[in-house]
Amino acid sequence: MPIDSAVTPHLPELVRFRHEMHQHPELMYDLPETSKRVAAALRAAGADEVHEGLGKTGVVAVIRGKKNGAGRSIGLRADMDALPVREITGKPYASKNEGRMHACGHDGHTTMLLGAAMGLADTRDFDGTVNLIFQPAEEGGAGADAMIQDGLFKRFPVNEVYGMHNRPGLPLGQFALRPGSMMASADTFTIELDGVGGHAAQPHTTTDTMPVMAALIQALQTIVARNVDPIQSAVVSVTMVHGGDAFNVIPPVVKLCGTVRTLDESVRDLVEARLHTLAGGIASAFGAKARVAYHRSYPVLVNHAENTEFAARAAEAVVGAGQVDRNLPPTMGSEDFAFMLKAVPGAYINIGNGDSAGIHHPDYDFNDEAIAWGASYWMSLARGRLPLKA
Ligand SMILES: [Zn+2]
Ligand SMILES: [Zn+2]
Repeated sequence: MPIDSAVTPHLPELVRFRHEMHQHPELMYDLPETSKRVAAALRAAGADEVHEGLGKTGVVAVIRGKKNGAGRSIGLRADMDALPVREITGKPYASKNEGRMHACGHDGHTTMLLGAAMGLADTRDFDGTVNLIFQPAEEGGAGADAMIQDGLFKRFPVNEVYGMHNRPGLPLGQFALRPGSMMASADTFTIELDGVGGHAAQPHTTTDTMPVMAALIQALQTIVARNVDPIQSAVVSVTMVHGGDAFNVIPPVVKLCGTVRTLDESVRDLVEARLHTLAGGIASAFGAKARVAYHRSYPVLVNHAENTEFAARAAEAVVGAGQVDRNLPPTMGSEDFAFMLKAVPGAYINIGNGDSAGIHHPDYDFNDEAIAWGASYWMSLARGRLPLKA
């Protein structure tokens, strides 16, 4: 079964919707136009219920099948936010919002799920309820968590939840995923080193935090090299260093910031603990003090094994066996669908975007030809997980 026959008639309209959304990118939770446009399109598609304002600007549509025998429901999720990137594609439908761009393809994700809404509302050939979840603020704002905190799964309970992201470099008409950890946790840290400032010509009268900072940056690399099991994965990157304003003044405070990525929650705990120990220990060895602020952001994205197989089969039903990679290597990028997978079993899949620029690149564009494959996958998954029995 290639492209779903319930999706095909909607394709021209879906491409128009994608281009329209691409022209009007909005950031984080600030999605007034986008969420309004999505909600209107879902109502026009014939969704039974459309709810706005979940997690500030999230939208949920409810579509009920022909029967509700088993009373089961599944959640399908897309993201709607863009990025602060200046577009250089030169496409006729390029961004009209200066300095903002759909550089991660969330316009495509929203469109594919809208396509599924149209097809599911037209056919209703499933038993149960499909909740279509459109979230804000995937790009660093934890919009998925905001929707959950706002009662997403209490008001719209689901037995399973699924997410999808496009992947440049993966051919069109192909899908890829893996069971278990697929994307990393993403945490941030800020370490302020307090010493005693003074004249640069009289360092002995100061507690200079510069050598403390240098020693600490080196030592932080030993967490990955010497503490984490070599078979496991972790990243500790110091990405900002701030301190000092003059050639001849030793500053009293130096600040460093960075990010920690892991593919396992116990590794995450270990890295956080070692970071505190090293900062405190090294600062005190030099007579300085360390103040550490460690912020846990997106968790590890863990695909549930059973649901990964359901998702792979649903994709295979559309694109054929051999077109679905079940053993995609994990990446140290992160994705806030991880919050949903912590709340409900499910799986996250990548869909091929063909030979495009990478995501977040100013020349990136979602591939319109992926819309049919993605919407068909959603249809296949909904029918497969909520089968109508004769
Ligand atoms: Zn992104
Ligand atoms: Zn993205």
